[in-house]
Amino acid sequence: MSEQLQTDPNTGRLAFEGADLHSLAEQFGTPLYVYSAEAVRQAYLGYAQACEGLAEVTIHYAIKANSNIHLLKLLASLGAGFDLVSAGELARVLAAGGNPAKAVFAGVGKSVADIEYALKAGVGCFNVESAAEMVRLGEVAQRLQIKANVSVRVNPDVDAKTHPYISTGLKENKFGVSMAVAPSVYAHAQAHPWLNVHGIDCHIGSQLTDPSPYFDALDRVLGLVDQLSAQGIQIDHLDLGGGIGIRYRDENPPKPADVLPQLIARVRQWAQAKGRPMPTLAFEPGRSIVGNAGVLLTRVEFLKNNEDKHFAIVDAAMNDLMRPAMYESFHAIVPVAPNPTATAQDYDIVGPVCESGDWLGRNRTLSIAQGDVLAILSAGAYGLTMASNYNSRGRAAEVLIEQGKARLVRRRETIEDLLAPELGL
Ligand code: PLP
Repeated sequence: MSEQLQTDPNTGRLAFEGADLHSLAEQFGTPLYVYSAEAVRQAYLGYAQACEGLAEVTIHYAIKANSNIHLLKLLASLGAGFDLVSAGELARVLAAGGNPAKAVFAGVGKSVADIEYALKAGVGCFNVESAAEMVRLGEVAQRLQIKANVSVRVNPDVDAKTHPYISTGLKENKFGVSMAVAPSVYAHAQAHPWLNVHGIDCHIGSQLTDPSPYFDALDRVLGLVDQLSAQGIQIDHLDLGGGIGIRYRDENPPKPADVLPQLIARVRQWAQAKGRPMPTLAFEPGRSIVGNAGVLLTRVEFLKNNEDKHFAIVDAAMNDLMRPAMYESFHAIVPVAPNPTATAQDYDIVGPVCESGDWLGRNRTLSIAQGDVLAILSAGAYGLTMASNYNSRGRAAEVLIEQGKARLVRRRETIEDLLAPELGL
């Protein structure tokens, strides 16, 4: 977790950026996502400072990790651009006052409506993921008479050594265009009057703890840029994606400062060797900006024993935090205040949803009682953005802490919210 999460040495209570988490649970109810603005700021600056003075670099925050508009506002104020994958995410950038020209639009299935919306909003670049998409983009751009900047997202076929569901740079993954096909996709763009070849993009996966796949991917991307150059297609912008991991348990992911300067140095070496100008660069981090800047607070509804098995049934569930059910991923779970009268026991922490896959943590030794509040750590990324209304449960509220002061930035969904879209009742 971020250093903003601290245990008071006298009371043993957890505070996040100085705000007492138990009090926040009392004030705003649970389940509750709580974010530290300072933790987000420090994580973003870790990227910005790692590149400072080395090259012209934009950090495009990957909105899918956490799309709360207040966080987007904060990141825009720090100078971030955005990586988005839907018209809805673009609407969030606009609502946050972000600059659409500093946004890139990725995703394998952009609809005509998505493309029209993004072109009219002035999105900086489309990261195109197939030949068919390039054709569609050209048609829409021509019809609207708005020129589209394009990068091709290439699939370098490198193993990111991460969970198979978040590995994206292997040829069996649906993402990007293969190295073999990319030249013809570029050729179409180059010949099209309403498409402007801007750069090349690649993102190989998420929660990377080993930096070596980045270098393998970069080498392949540079090889393709050379090949395109020989074909008369000049690429002066490289977008190297996101993916740096965070510590959920005992992982040792690299810091941006351990990876970005070396990647930039490798690009500079290549540019010098080829007598080319240094390309501009972009990165698209999501998880490593917000993951450890958020916790999910949940209250114990019941403790239940099925013979030797002990369950803590809490009020958060897989619909609030999908990652354990989806990837069997680990989140540390701790009480926000010690309970001196409870005895330690091994619990599976489970939610109220009617699925055996609805668990948040397994075999955790905790001293807890009914009514206690637990903090699920490292929940700032792919938490609320992956939440659903499964079992007709309203989505959790979100609180942002700024200089120790807590502010409700998204209210809890109500029963009325759940029923509102259904017609003819
Ligand atoms: N860029 C693209 C194209 C992605 O698909 C993703 C995540 O899936 C990201 C960036 C962000 O990855 P991460 O949150 O691991 O940094």
